[in-house]
Amino acid sequence: MALLDVSNLNVCFGLKSGLVKALYDVSFRLERGERIALVGESGAGKSILGFSIVNLISKPGFIESGSIKLDGKELTSLSNRQLRHVRGKRIAMIFQDPMMTLNPVISVGIQMVEAIRSHTPMSKKDAKKIALDRLAQVQIPSPELRFEQYPHELSGGMRQRVIIAVAMILNPDIIIADEPTTALDVTIQAEILELLKHMCEVCNVALILITHDLGVVSRIAERTMVMYAGRIVEEGPTLEIINDPQHPYTQGLLSALPQMALPGQRLNQIEGSMPSLMNHPKGCAFHPRCKYATEKCSNAQPNYIYSGISTVACYMVEDMLEEFSEYRDL
Ligand code: SF4
Repeated sequence: MALLDVSNLNVCFGLKSGLVKALYDVSFRLERGERIALVGESGAGKSILGFSIVNLISKPGFIESGSIKLDGKELTSLSNRQLRHVRGKRIAMIFQDPMMTLNPVISVGIQMVEAIRSHTPMSKKDAKKIALDRLAQVQIPSPELRFEQYPHELSGGMRQRVIIAVAMILNPDIIIADEPTTALDVTIQAEILELLKHMCEVCNVALILITHDLGVVSRIAERTMVMYAGRIVEEGPTLEIINDPQHPYTQGLLSALPQMALPGQRLNQIEGSMPSLMNHPKGCAFHPRCKYATEKCSNAQPNYIYSGISTVACYMVEDMLEEFSEYRDL
């Protein structure tokens, strides 16, 4: 049984103008200790998916249908009280801005102790010991001193280390990290990602890394899911996807990476922009931006097909596979 099993998840937003769909039939599995990346431009639905897993989508968003199982137990039917137990204790979240998690007027140490005591009947003294251990584990110098400090007294990188320590404090099964390094200095980003990976390995915690940067995933995630307009369009082993992307959108994301440009060359970019929730094109949502689009692309959504490298939703890949099989049969 998978640790997390999301199947046919559909999320909608009830707006004045009507119901708009934000996630389309999203399905994936996450095993214990596995690290996966959720990649796509902003507006692809990555964060909505992350928030949906812990049922934290803000109104007017709601889960329309589908299932989210943690260790076989359905999460979508849990009450708020039951979900509070899951959040933090079994599934922890790390946000882009540490101040979304840290209270600016309470010292780091008290926040960590309270995080432990809100889920376990532990004494303050024992909780403090665990908090100090965690601060040391995330390589915070002088943990005793940092324990007493307030969030604003720490640098951005140090705050994100504290957030990782807080996320790990109750030994969760899964961490969902939503663009955890976007707000940080480029020099510190790699350090924080490396630390996150290290902590997940040491504590056998599964990770869902949400990022717009396909360039960082090879260092962190074993598996990658590429999202476009609320749908997973390609999924497979990270290295295979990076070395031989099958979906035109994944190819576009890769060729737009700064490291793919030669010195003095302008960066590539995918023409056009992500459709808004209100304006999803019919058929494959990527067709207005896709140089391989044919008539059928604008009529109906392609189904998933295994390309031999990854699982892809694309007619072009489907047609290529069909052609190959015809040659094979000759
Ligand atoms: Fe492009 Fe068509 Fe494939 Fe969509 S289904 S990515 S439009 S070729």
